[in-house]
Amino acid sequence: MKIIMLGAPGAGKGTQAKMIAEKYSIPHISTGDIFRANIKNGTELGMEAKKYMDAGQLVPDELTVKILLDRVAADDCKNGYVLDGFPRTIPQAEVLENALNELGDKIDYAIDVDVPDENIINRMSGRRACVTCGATYHVVHIPPKTEGVCDKCGSELILRDDDKPETVKNRLDVYHKQTQPLIDFYNKREILKEVDGTVDSSEVFKAIVAILG
Ligand code: ADP
Ligand code: AMP
Repeated sequence: MKIIMLGAPGAGKGTQAKMIAEKYSIPHISTGDIFRANIKNGTELGMEAKKYMDAGQLVPDELTVKILLDRVAADDCKNGYVLDGFPRTIPQAEVLENALNELGDKIDYAIDVDVPDENIINRMSGRRACVTCGATYHVVHIPPKTEGVCDKCGSELILRDDDKPETVKNRLDVYHKQTQPLIDFYNKREILKEVDGTVDSSEVFKAIVAILG
């Protein structure tokens, strides 16, 4: 099963993608996580991506597409995957579609997690991410057992630089201009599914499982 998660930054794509990956035993692929790992390891790609991420802009398609296509060609993707944060532009969606077409393959579902802009700033300012394993929490809605400590690996939890309110505003503008058109793109291909992302994360997941079966 090949799934794309759509939705504004902070809508809960990552939270749901991790649960989908576990339930359906497919890898969770987050381009944001791949970039953050590169930044942490000080790679050239990481240094280039950081300039855009810190400004709340998208990393250019030329850099993003290659990484994603390499990742989905890996062995563990044979039975499918859940993409979180890719595609974010129409050209990215077209490259993915063409690459899959060449293999006689396609995306099965594009799930749009719908959360209005008013809720997003609160979501992002409360998000805490693990510096080591990338697990995410929310200080109020999805808190870790011990404040500031990851339940899964015991490492420190931080507020991402790009989750500060001034950057979130930019990211929302970028989302509306460049990413939201993908809703129409996948609707035309009759694989778009919408879920209400404002309810509790376990309720969002139930709605997704009802779609995926
Ligand atoms: P995205 O991957 O779309 O950027 P995340 O999954 O990281 O979003 O979620 C953003 C923040 O909102 C995180 O702090 C997460 O713990 C929290 N969150 C996720 N889903 C919900 C939900 N249904 N209700 C409230 N908070 C949520
Ligand atoms: P995320 O973790 O999905 O919120 O992504 C964090 C940041 O990484 C985004 O704000 C972008 O700067 C960059 N990024 C992640 N995925 C993509 C993508 N598909 N295209 C362009 N930039 C991306």
